[in-house]
Amino acid sequence: MHTIGLIGGMSWESSIEYYRIINEETRRHLGGTHSAKSVMYSVDFHEIEAMQHRDDWDSASAAMVEAARCVQLGGAECVVICTNTMHRMANEVQAAIDIPLLHIADATAAAIGVADVTSVALLGTRFTMEHDFYRGRLQELHGLDVRIPNADDRTEVHRVIYEELVLGEVEPSSRARYLEVISSLVNEGAEGVIAGCTEIELLITADDVEVPFFPTTRIHAEAAVEWALS
Ligand code: GLU
Repeated sequence: MHTIGLIGGMSWESSIEYYRIINEETRRHLGGTHSAKSVMYSVDFHEIEAMQHRDDWDSASAAMVEAARCVQLGGAECVVICTNTMHRMANEVQAAIDIPLLHIADATAAAIGVADVTSVALLGTRFTMEHDFYRGRLQELHGLDVRIPNADDRTEVHRVIYEELVLGEVEPSSRARYLEVISSLVNEGAEGVIAGCTEIELLITADDVEVPFFPTTRIHAEAAVEWALS
């Protein structure tokens, strides 16, 4: 078994899920008392969120590079960045380390391919929905048609992440609003939905939506276990 390196704390509400899923999956594969070998570097999300919202992506990138070097020094054999948004600097992180970065969008695209879906709705932070690093990768590298909510809906999806979900608040009214956003994207032709923020699956589950649902925390954590056991 290889050692998985996790960069967490963005937010810790979803990092807990990564930790739980990689251990549950390892036990499911190996049985008995087996658990995952892992190293986690967990940041203070307050600092990271401030960098994101003042568009200081250079500092955010430096923070991720430092975290990745630390998990490598700690014995990790791969790096898993436990957030979609911070894959904005995936290339810089990969260039700074000697171990592979397991990209969340690639794991998600693989799951979408298995489900035979080509047109997907993407919900996430404003950065993930609007910047090119995520959508572009899904479109250009994986040939997917990616649909994002309209401007008002994006504002609300982003607000719920930063004002509720990263604080552990799961509000039924926000669930209803997310389901409305999903429903309008499905009406426009989306055949599946990416929960493209690692906290969204704390709010919405596959049972809430009528089309295939792609929870990125679970997908990414399962891909890490598959890698660690390969
Ligand atoms: N966990 C979220 C994501 O997957 C948002 C927090 C962050 O900005 O990293 O994008």
